[in-house]
Amino acid sequence: MYYKKSHKEKTINFYAPTFECFACNDTGLVNNSDGLINLYWGDYDKDENGKKFSGGDFAIICHCKKSYQITDENGKVLSGGFRDSQGNINKTNTINGEQAIGCSLTKDQTREIHTQRKNNWAETQKIMNDWRLKNLGKKKPELPYFIQTVKEQLKGVDNLFAMPKGVK
Ligand SMILES: [Zn+2]
Repeated sequence: MYYKKSHKEKTINFYAPTFECFACNDTGLVNNSDGLINLYWGDYDKDENGKKFSGGDFAIICHCKKSYQITDENGKVLSGGFRDSQGNINKTNTINGEQAIGCSLTKDQTREIHTQRKNNWAETQKIMNDWRLKNLGKKKPELPYFIQTVKEQLKGVDNLFAMPKGVK
């Protein structure tokens, strides 16, 4: 197995991921890592005090084909899916009776999230590649603005992990 990138590839190319669906990253489940879900459901994955609580609410089932059962040409189930062939979210038996295994945003909202994330990745890819090209061969490259910003923000936390004064 050859796993070394050429020097040029290493230096220049930054690739955004190639998901078909950026709402669920082709998993069938829409994540809220960037908080976009909260545009539609303000208190999703937040507790009563408004604090972030990942996994605190029902999983959000996507609308793309990855949320449906996938079978091979012989009908063998490759992936169980989260929706039936009518598009209804699958149900499961719980101690409270039959319950849907998740919830979902509308198709339009899900499409909106997909588009937004795809655009964000495209923008990041462009910024990173422009920056890498611009600084190719420079000994001291300028940092892209967002990394510079994070560096500035980190300046104040030098002592975050230092032992508290007086502790021996
Ligand atoms: Zn999806």
